Amino acid sequence: MRISGSTTLVGVIGNPVKHSLSPVILNAAFREAKMNWVYTAFETPEEKLADAISGIRALGIAGLSVTMPHKASVCPLLDEISDSAKTLQAVNCIVNDAGNLKGHNTDGDGFLDAVKHDAGMDIAGKKVLVIGSGGSARSIIHSLGKAGVREIAVMNRTKKKAFDALELAGPVGRYVEENEISEVVSEADLVINATPIGMSDTEDITNFPVEPNLFTKGQLAVDLIYHPISTPWMKALRDREVEAHGGLSMLIFQAARAFKLWTGKEAPVDAMRKAALDEIEK
Ligand code: NAP
Repeated sequence: MRISGSTTLVGVIGNPVKHSLSPVILNAAFREAKMNWVYTAFETPEEKLADAISGIRALGIAGLSVTMPHKASVCPLLDEISDSAKTLQAVNCIVNDAGNLKGHNTDGDGFLDAVKHDAGMDIAGKKVLVIGSGGSARSIIHSLGKAGVREIAVMNRTKKKAFDALELAGPVGRYVEENEISEVVSEADLVINATPIGMSDTEDITNFPVEPNLFTKGQLAVDLIYHPISTPWMKALRDREVEAHGGLSMLIFQAARAFKLWTGKEAPVDAMRKAALDEIEK
């Protein structure tokens, strides 16, 4: 890739953002697609967000990914918002169409793409348990609700946030009390960890989002954590012959959807995944 006067610029805004894998993943995509585009990271403090958004228009930046803490606060600064981003009040991707800025949210549908890719699971008609009710859980619950699942059960440390998230599930939503967890896990086709439990090297490795011994062979689990690539929970589940996947695919597929929104082309996901894995292994 040769940067020239006609290179198209995209990037990510967040704070902090220097640790982000997105530049590695998306520059690999542009290289593989032989496109004269470049993707960089803009560390943007909250008080500079409005200036940064004006800057997209002023400089003709083609689009931006949006990460924490700007996913909600960017919404009123845009010209248009997709239905999903409006429902979630969270934008993770902005498209600049000749100065008209439209916000999208590709997280939840990126998660469903990942499940289809990694496990071959068609989610329609399935029973799903989501642990957590933060930003990632909310986008996944919203996409699950649109995808025709049979049940979306939600468990969270803070009950109020679980009920807020369940509003995104529609009629198939169900709040899970502590004493119902073994029954709900045993009946689930898919269990998702959308909490950071298992992310830290220093954490007690027997602190699991859900006890692995509640699962049986043949069930599917996804841990949204992608660093480490394999969490203690995933390892314990695999020991029980439960199919367990990590969060890297969701990261790749939400970026692939952003790539498509910006360029109109299908993203080269294999090259994106390889670049991310090489970077994590470094
Ligand atoms: P968030 O908005 O901060 O939400 C965190 C959730 O985890 C909340 O429901 C919180 O419960 C719960 N939680 C936090 N610490 C906990 C603990 N010690 N015990 C029990 N519950 C706990 O975070 P997020 O953005 O949704 O991210 C959640 C996880 O997904 C993180 O590991 C993140 O790295 C990962 N993630 C992955 C991707 C991907 O592309 N793979 C994308 C986004 C996030 P309360 O409501 O009680 O606070």
